[in-house]
Amino acid sequence: MKNVRHIFFDLDNTLWDHRKNAYLTIQELFKNQDISEKYMIDFEEFHSTYHIINEKLWEQIRDGEIDKEYLRKHRFYDTFLNFGVDDANLAGYFEHHFLDEILKYNELVDGALDLLNYLKDKNYKMHIISNGFQEVTERKCILSEIADFFETITSADSVNIRKPRPEIFEYSLNLAKAEKDESILIGDDWIADVKGAQNFGIDIIFFDVLDENPLEEGLKFVKHLSEIKQYL
Ligand SMILES: [Mg+2]
Repeated sequence: MKNVRHIFFDLDNTLWDHRKNAYLTIQELFKNQDISEKYMIDFEEFHSTYHIINEKLWEQIRDGEIDKEYLRKHRFYDTFLNFGVDDANLAGYFEHHFLDEILKYNELVDGALDLLNYLKDKNYKMHIISNGFQEVTERKCILSEIADFFETITSADSVNIRKPRPEIFEYSLNLAKAEKDESILIGDDWIADVKGAQNFGIDIIFFDVLDENPLEEGLKFVKHLSEIKQYL
């Protein structure tokens, strides 16, 4: 694409493998607390339940129905409750340790590093627009050793507005000194990334990691990050 100079990336599950890192973190906390012995809960079942509850809560945050505090209070509590364990202290332990411990794991999405090197060699200017917590977003980039690829990192926290709202894109493009017609977003969330970018008026490549197979005409989408090279 001849006009594109600035590439904006979503971070979680687009470059940084949040799903895998969260899995490994919760597995460790689960073992530390002897959950399977104490409560006869199978880890895989616990994790799938957590995953569904957590995704739902993040959707509610994105849609402005709840705040982060609500999510932090509920994601582990509701998961344990699902297995008949009503224990706010135990849920609090998981929540408290989760965000620190997850940064010990820094698995990137398959092909992420290769893609970033490829785009860097082609002299694109790269940036992050994440709905995550500012400090956590920066630490994830540093600890997974991809921070140097990016000229700017925008987190929803620093502007108090989340994708898909146009204001966060506006903020990030201004920070990057980028024009709309020379910018493209790459992200895995249908609403936050695809609808957000379209609504704001920049091009988008949808990373269809969950096989949602969108039928929207003209939409660029890929199943593996390496396929992005056909567009850029
Ligand atoms: Mg994402």
